[in-house]
Order: sequence, then C-alpha cells, then structure tokens
Amino acid sequence: SSEKTRKPDWLRVKLPVGESYRKVRQLVDDHKLHTICQSGNCPNMGECWGAGTATFMILGNVCTRSCSFCAVATGRPNEYDIDEPRRVAEAIKLMGVKHAVITSVNRDELKDRGAEIWYQTVVQVKELSPETTIETLIPDVKGNWDALYRMIEGGQEVVSHNMETVERLYRNVRPQAKYIRSLEQIKRTKEQGKRTKSGIMLGFGETPDEIYKAMDDLAAHGLDILTLGQYLQPTKMHHEVIEFIRPEQFAHYKEEGLKRGLKYVESGPLVRSSYHAERHVNVPI
Ligand code: SF4
Ligand code: SF4
Repeated sequence: SSEKTRKPDWLRVKLPVGESYRKVRQLVDDHKLHTICQSGNCPNMGECWGAGTATFMILGNVCTRSCSFCAVATGRPNEYDIDEPRRVAEAIKLMGVKHAVITSVNRDELKDRGAEIWYQTVVQVKELSPETTIETLIPDVKGNWDALYRMIEGGQEVVSHNMETVERLYRNVRPQAKYIRSLEQIKRTKEQGKRTKSGIMLGFGETPDEIYKAMDDLAAHGLDILTLGQYLQPTKMHHEVIEFIRPEQFAHYKEEGLKRGLKYVESGPLVRSSYHAERHVNVPI
C-alpha cells in the first residue's frame, strides 16, 4: 500500500489484558449487554475497560442502517427489550462507573425511534447511581423531534450526535443520514438547554477546507464539544482508509476548531467519541 495508507506506528494499540478488563467483560456478558467497544473493535479497549469504562449499546445489536464504516450488523431488528434499561443500570452500578457512555443502533422502524427505552435507561442509571454522570450518544431521529425530546429529557449531562464525516461524503459514508438534518438535531438539542457534542472521523478522503466548513456549521448550530479521530477499517468489507492523518495535523485541527467557536475539541489519531468522555461533563453550557 502507499505511504498514505500504511498503518502508522502511532496507531499501534495495547492489548486488552488485566483483571479489571476481565471483570468488565464478565459483567457485560452476564447482563447480556452490547458494547460499541467490542462491535467497533475499538483500539482503546485495554485502556478504557482496564479503567472500568465501557460504551454500552442499547436497543439491540442489529441496525436499520448501513454506514460504510460501521461494524454493527445491518438488518431488521427484532429485539425490543423493556428489561434492558434495568440491566444497563445494574451493570453500571456493579462496575462503579463514574461516567457512563450509552449509545444505540438506529431503530428507524420504530415509531418513537427507541426514545422510550432511551429515556428509561437514563432514568434508571440515575436512580441506581445518582453520582454517575451520563453521556448519551444518540442516533439520527430522522426528523422525529418528539422522539428527540424524549431521548434527552432523562437528566443526562451530555447529548452527543455524531456527524461522522463532511457533507460531501455522506452518500458514501452515512447513506441514510442527511448532513443538514443532523445539524438541525444538534441545534434542537442545544435549544433544550443541553450540552452538545459531536464526532467526526478523518481519513475518508475529506479535505481540510471541508473539515473547517463542518466546524463552522457545527459552531453555528450550537455545538459545544467536538471529537476528531482517525477512521480505522473494522474489516476489509468496510470503507477503506483513504488517508492516515498525522498527529500534528490533528493538533492543528484542534486549534482551528477552538478558533471557530467550539468550546472544547478533542483531536488525535486514537480519539473516539467516547474517549476521555468524563472530561466533557464539565464543559460549560
Ligand atoms: Fe469503548 Fe469508547 Fe473506550 Fe473505545 S474509546 S474502548 S468505544 S469506551
Ligand atoms: Fe452503525 Fe450507527 Fe450507522 Fe447503525 S446508524 S450502521 S450503528 S453508525
């Protein structure tokens, strides 16, 4: 492969080992939960799980969408498990998680987009672990704003919705999503008084100017926190990595984001939207 697409040294990951890693794994299995760490084969599992942090994925592990970067299976989900909020809350309590990150697949076939399960999950985590702060990484509600408002009213500290890429590449990367609609979702979240967060992956062939445009759009739609990380191909079947962005370039993007009015930017090759997420709770609204 060419110089630009050979996996560079700075992406070498530490293997997930150790006692706390095994403990988290056991709890996840016992409670029949799904994590984005496992399905996304995240390079930070050793670090996060070793520190007792995991990103739980609710509403099943089959998604109605087919984003070209994502390792979650596409199909018609049949899982709708009203007991799931309880199990998530219990696992978070047993793990002693101080900051919980929860995400979900897209459930476009459900009228409420899964909002009720979302709401119950947040409420029950808060009930069992009142000290635990929560980030909810929510899906595109496809313009169902009532579903959005239900999803975000349970008392979570951070509401994130990932843009994933720049506008031009949506058709390729996030075919069922719309750039403008995701921006509107962020704007409406902000209007509800929430701390807003989004993530963009780099390496799909976007240009710096396209990234700056996305930053400007996000700032104009009330975004507080942005994460920028390197896209890694989960399997050969997924979108190829067009470019590995150098760490210096990530650092430069961070400066640009702050200049453009974002309050907090986390930018680096291994940054994932849930990476260092506990720090984002304190970003002023
Ligand atoms: Fe899981 Fe996020 Fe940590 Fe990756 S960065 S291991 S997805 S919590
Ligand atoms: Fe993966 Fe989310 Fe896209 Fe579904 S909507 S394919 S879970 S990134």
